[in-house]
Amino acid sequence: MTNEIAIFATLSAITALTIYVFRHRHSRKESAAEVNAWKLRLELDLKQARDERNRLLDALGDPFLLVDSNAEIRFANEAARALFGNRELLNRPIREAFIDPRLADALLRCLETGEPVQSRVVLPQQTSPRGDLENRGVNAWIIDAAQLSNPPDSDPITRVIIRDVTTAHQIEQVRKDFVANASHELRTPLAIINGYLENLLDDDMLDDKEMSRRFLTVMRKHADRISRIVEDMLVISRLESGEANALKVEPFRFRSCINDILERLESVIRNQKAEILITMPDPTITLQGDRFYWTQVLFNLVENALKQNPYSGLHIEIGCQLLGENHHIWVADNGVGIPSADLPHIFRRFYRVEKHHSQQEIKGTGLGLSIVKRAIEAHHGTIGVTSVPGRETKFLITVPREGL
Ligand code: ADP
Repeated sequence: MTNEIAIFATLSAITALTIYVFRHRHSRKESAAEVNAWKLRLELDLKQARDERNRLLDALGDPFLLVDSNAEIRFANEAARALFGNRELLNRPIREAFIDPRLADALLRCLETGEPVQSRVVLPQQTSPRGDLENRGVNAWIIDAAQLSNPPDSDPITRVIIRDVTTAHQIEQVRKDFVANASHELRTPLAIINGYLENLLDDDMLDDKEMSRRFLTVMRKHADRISRIVEDMLVISRLESGEANALKVEPFRFRSCINDILERLESVIRNQKAEILITMPDPTITLQGDRFYWTQVLFNLVENALKQNPYSGLHIEIGCQLLGENHHIWVADNGVGIPSADLPHIFRRFYRVEKHHSQQEIKGTGLGLSIVKRAIEAHHGTIGVTSVPGRETKFLITVPREGL
């Protein structure tokens, strides 16, 4: 009996131990599985956070990079990848990734000093980060770099934003050229006026009535020139200001513009015995736009034809016709024309053709055609010119029928 009890007790103990061991093993397995699940969840969360961060940084319009202390790229957003022509950027030293060292220099300065850097870099077309895609000529960039507030003892990371400021740079350049050209154009008549004033006052010529009158007449001519240049510059400035109210848009009969300018130029036309032909299949044709600027466009084009050909036998055609969705407007003459080398530059401010006849003799500011072009562009139209000297010089404007 005692034996049986002992066997029973032993069996019970073994069973209990087996259950214990089994349970223990099971719970160890369970906790290992839990740890794995946590690890997976953490990795997933981390990946989701990283994807979310990348999505946000990709949404930035500007190219954005993260760079480590070895100047190697650790992250590049979509705009950065596109900027660098989808070349491999990750883990590459920035000196290698940036084509021009001037771009890298600004960033390296930030890495060395830890100080934020905002540096403007102007590059020739060949070394633009856009590579073969660059067709804008000189291109300008701002490198904006600053160290992130990294946790202590970690490798410092620097964020870099690359801003394309080429358009602003070009506009600034055009403005600078405009001011330089305008000053140059104004300086000549001012110097002439000053010269004559000196003669009159310092050399005591006022008593010589005849001479004084001659001097004053020349001075008035040059003062007129100054006001013409200033007037033209103001018109250009108004058109370029892009103000919504720069144009007063309303329907008007194109024929009424033609009548206006023919009236204003009547004496010149009569003196030069110029012949004017008007080609308008529909004489009641109506344009939608600013009548003031359209009259100015027409005036400048017809006046140019007369100015450049101050002799008899000149024929000028003014035309307007609706073709499809566009109005075609043209001014053509059979005068001296424009040499083909000058044609591409003719709409530039202050550009005047150096021809055999002296431009000094011909009244003009070199701003007339730029005003024409600006006014037409403000109406969403385009202008082109073709010239066969002595046969036909034709300015053709195409403007949407619906207007603005
Ligand atoms: P400008 O005030 O000198 O007339 P524009 O900008 O109107 O300035 O014209 C620029 C130049 O284009 C003129 O100086 C002239 O040399 C040339 N040009 C314009 N229209 C004609 C034309 N119909 N025939 C010949 N040359 C022209």
